[in-house]
Amino acid sequence: MMEQQIKIKHPKGLWVLFGTEMWERFNFYGMRAILTLFLVNSLLMKEDDASLIYGGFLGLCYLTPMLGGFIADRFFGNRNCILLGGLMMAAGQLLLFISASVFGSNLSLATSLVWIALGIIIFGNGFFKPNISSMVGSLYPKQEKSKLDVAFTIFYMGINLGAFLGQLICPIIGDVKNKIKLPDGTFKMLADGKTFDRLRDIHAFKWGFLAAGIAMLIGTVVFYVLKNKYVVTPEGKPLGGLPSKNDSSDFEEGEAQKANFSLQSLIIALVSFVVLFFGIRYIMGGTNVIKTIIYPIIYASGITLAGLIISDTSLTKVERQRIIVIYIVAFFVIFFWAAFEQAGSSLTFIADNQTDRNFFGWNMPASMVQIFNGLFVVAFAVPFSMLWERLNKAGKEPTSPFKQAIGLLLVAVSYFIIAYNVKDLGNSGLLAIKWLILLYLIQTAAELCLSPIGLSLVGKLAPKRFASLLYGVFFLSNASGYALAGTLGALIPATGDKFKKAQDLGINLQDVLDKKIIPTADQIAILNKAQLPTSNPVFVGFEIHNLFEFFMVFVVLCGIASVILFALTPFLKKMMNGIK
Ligand code: GLN
Repeated sequence: MMEQQIKIKHPKGLWVLFGTEMWERFNFYGMRAILTLFLVNSLLMKEDDASLIYGGFLGLCYLTPMLGGFIADRFFGNRNCILLGGLMMAAGQLLLFISASVFGSNLSLATSLVWIALGIIIFGNGFFKPNISSMVGSLYPKQEKSKLDVAFTIFYMGINLGAFLGQLICPIIGDVKNKIKLPDGTFKMLADGKTFDRLRDIHAFKWGFLAAGIAMLIGTVVFYVLKNKYVVTPEGKPLGGLPSKNDSSDFEEGEAQKANFSLQSLIIALVSFVVLFFGIRYIMGGTNVIKTIIYPIIYASGITLAGLIISDTSLTKVERQRIIVIYIVAFFVIFFWAAFEQAGSSLTFIADNQTDRNFFGWNMPASMVQIFNGLFVVAFAVPFSMLWERLNKAGKEPTSPFKQAIGLLLVAVSYFIIAYNVKDLGNSGLLAIKWLILLYLIQTAAELCLSPIGLSLVGKLAPKRFASLLYGVFFLSNASGYALAGTLGALIPATGDKFKKAQDLGINLQDVLDKKIIPTADQIAILNKAQLPTSNPVFVGFEIHNLFEFFMVFVVLCGIASVILFALTPFLKKMMNGIK
């Protein structure tokens, strides 16, 4: 039973990795909670641009682990990469802190600093994330691998405990807003004549970034101090040292340890990457750098790597079939993350602009609303593992792809509920916070059906010599999901405050969006300057008029993905050749 298994002694090193990852996720999610609001409010970007940047940033954070894993395996070892990655992320947060301190006097410097900071964090995350996860696996010798599911459940809780703490502290000190609705129901006027229902302290974000940076430093120090004593084999030998010192006892005799691709296949892969890059770039169109460079890099890398592995001639028929299952699942997972990761962009903007965030008498900061995800994971990770365990004993445990189809269905349901709750809000009605909490509850159940399950499915299906590369493909599908999350998040229609803001500028935004009035060049300039849209967003030919239609995009995408995946499960089961 799971309860007993949790009580089984786990190596102390697991708790060191738990603590290190907890502080790192504090840093990552805490910063992420306030990032888009900072870009919009302090750096004066438009919400759709902030969504694209957010998607590109997250996507790249899941692309660089390929590099971090490779460098650790060949050169530096896991430990050094974790320390390096931790220090880089802390440095990145410090730069965000500086950016958020100087934007008032030097906007262009502040903007450049953000690019550098995000770049450093992307590479820092690439060094940190794959190496800490693979160290969890290496704590357990071959005969104890059965404890791994529980170990990863515990680790996943560490991740989310960190996310929870980060999304608690960083918004409290960084996203400071006061509601100043006057007693007569009107809104307080600002000196420059614009009205807002709430005033935000746009200089407070820096404290959130500073807290994130301090958290990362704590995590790095914890790991540095405790690693030699606890992150060791049962015999006390250090784990994750330099690659030459690692032994290969985990491999069967005669089994190739690493994939060796021929020069020819590497050249073909390179050419395919270039062709795919330009092809995707052409299809996506537009001029935005994120859309024309970053997203195509992410998509093209995923497809190229997948092609490179599957074309390897050493694969047996069964191995190849199992890898195809990984690819099919990885493809569907893209839609999940695209919908799920609206948390830090469009859902935060909606929480900010069109939500009554009164939570038991307290006005919760908009950036904190996503905290419910981490909180619910910590609460439900163990019950979910127990549920699978029980179903397993009864011989009724669904296959992994089936669980993932359930995950996709749940996300579709979560957006369907919220879509119907925003339907009649109009431009000034407020969404009750309980609906966002319900959305995060359902999405967390979906995450627990899909995310940890997917990770262990890859582990089970991948031939050992391709395991890390196939994890790479799987992470790249996460990355692609994030890129898609950015594209879809940018479809957010004008909400709440925006109509008021335009009214104060003498423009009826609704009429402009409905094309009832054609704005003059001057009016367009005014709208642009005030970060307001001049037309409704369009997605594959459909115009998104309101939040209802925006949410329905996710219902339709995830709903269709779920139905197709359900239909495919019998075939996938066959192709898994005996693995569940
Ligand atoms: N929330 C988890 C983490 O941060 C999983 C994210 C993912 O796999 N895309 O590690």
